[in-house]
Amino acid sequence: MTEIIMESIARPLLQASPVAHPRVPRTLSSGKLKRAQRLHSQAVVVVILLGISLAIVLAALGYPPGRIELGIFLVSTVLVGLGGSVGFHRHFTHRSFKAKTPVRVALAILGSMAMQGTLFFWVALHRRHHEHGDETGDPHSPHIREDGSAYASRLQGVWHSYMGWTFSHEVPNAAHYAKDLLADKVLSRVNRLYFLWVFLGLALPTLAGGLLKGTWAGALSGLVWGGFLRIFFWHNMIWYITSLAHVIGRRDFRSGDLSTNSVLMALPTLGESWHNNHHAFPAAPILHLKWYQFDFSGLIIRILALLGLAWDLKEPSRQMLRDKAQDPSGSLSGTK
Ligand SMILES: [Zn+2]
Ligand SMILES: [Zn+2]
Repeated sequence: MTEIIMESIARPLLQASPVAHPRVPRTLSSGKLKRAQRLHSQAVVVVILLGISLAIVLAALGYPPGRIELGIFLVSTVLVGLGGSVGFHRHFTHRSFKAKTPVRVALAILGSMAMQGTLFFWVALHRRHHEHGDETGDPHSPHIREDGSAYASRLQGVWHSYMGWTFSHEVPNAAHYAKDLLADKVLSRVNRLYFLWVFLGLALPTLAGGLLKGTWAGALSGLVWGGFLRIFFWHNMIWYITSLAHVIGRRDFRSGDLSTNSVLMALPTLGESWHNNHHAFPAAPILHLKWYQFDFSGLIIRILALLGLAWDLKEPSRQMLRDKAQDPSGSLSGTK
């Protein structure tokens, strides 16, 4: 995994001048990188299995989760989740609003704690997803493989887009997809310290559990619920977005792909399940486009704007909403 930092991040840093070179490849074909990518995905699986096993062992030994564990889980999930949705996704990938440097750094650090790869890697991969939207080159479409070939079954497509892709997708080149971020010295430093942030994301809930309960079992419970199981939960939310949010749900807007909206997943994904809204208006910081579409991340961006910490929110106009509105049924029968 050290290689993925050194090569996908440091190498593009060395190669890329702020001016894009027309021949900078979109993906990096390196065996080392592929191995590092697989190792990182396997590490996530180990963390998840460890979390589930330890939670069971702790409960069996008389330490079932109580209010403190659930509180640590909720607080860490919301903070790290916002780092992902408000930070990695809406601010850094789509530049949907501007923010003060301390806010940018805080969002980048919190998002890194999710253990979903470095900031530059995450942004590059997600920009590639939008570039190809359910067509050849999309790293995690449930409808078509990255090389353009078809899946043998819908189930295989859903499996690949849920979790399978994390082990085998093309490695996106940050020098092509994220050169705006590569030019930022502060973010480059945050990016290089990825493993420190992942470690802090585990150490802080451990400390909180230990201090709040005053026992070693409390510290272990904090690690399990605020660290391992939080990573498990938020990965599943993102995997839902990469897969079923392109299969099940309503299509309220014409987006040029097969993305969908889901009211059921709105709260646990902190608003990211309004994925059809997002694909139709990728630069929109707030996905609350109909009265019932509650978007917690959008609310946080509004609060940041009210506090003067964020500005230049690129909200779609009424005319833009009308131009892309799907027929009132939000029918799934319509294709792109
Ligand atoms: Zn999508
Ligand atoms: Zn996006």
